[in-house]
Amino acid sequence: MKIFLDAGHNYSGLGTGASGFGLREEMVSFAIASRLCALLKDAGHTVKMSREKLEDNVGKTSRESINLRAKMANEWGADLFVSIHCNAGGGKGAETLVYSKLGGASEMANKVQNALVKNLGLVSRGVKKRPDLGVLRLTKCDAFLVETAFIDDENDAWLLKTEPEKFADAIFEGMTGVKPKKTEELSEIHDIVWEYAHRGLVTDSEGMEEEMRKNPNGRLYWLARKTLQYIRERNA
Ligand SMILES: [Zn+2]
Repeated sequence: MKIFLDAGHNYSGLGTGASGFGLREEMVSFAIASRLCALLKDAGHTVKMSREKLEDNVGKTSRESINLRAKMANEWGADLFVSIHCNAGGGKGAETLVYSKLGGASEMANKVQNALVKNLGLVSRGVKKRPDLGVLRLTKCDAFLVETAFIDDENDAWLLKTEPEKFADAIFEGMTGVKPKKTEELSEIHDIVWEYAHRGLVTDSEGMEEEMRKNPNGRLYWLARKTLQYIRERNA
């Protein structure tokens, strides 16, 4: 399937998004869309991003930006258009927006909405009909827009900040019915130490390995192993 992934808003200029608690919507939408892009490609789909790099802008005003995003997807011949945003303005939770409540896009939007609410413990604001939205109205293919969570709600913003990958995983799960595979955990001491060194997180890798081998199943081993897994899943 050809999937057009739209990371909402522009990095700079007139088309930037909402903000809250030190977060900017255009950065959060890009982080979630990038991970979702990787997951969908792994699953065999052809994916195109509206913004390929974080700093990319599409068009110079909000209106122009929306028109261009729809045009890009139409010209590319997308089968599905998915737009990622954060909500703002006094509320909390996730909602998914569709052009019409009938058809495949709405069915998939319901599954995405359910996965987001279940996996992240968000308040559900439901799937809503928004035929007025440019990206839903102007795209020729099935389309839905995910308002992941409220960037100006403290709890929602905390989730967007600390677990953006969980949002991507949930959207992927809703779209495909498959839970994304976790990054395989490294268990061999040598592999763990090598990865720490490779990532520039330790300079004396020989010393670290020696220390870990003194107690191969000890606390240092488990701390290093679990911390590394945490880092790998966030920077996959
Ligand atoms: Zn937005």
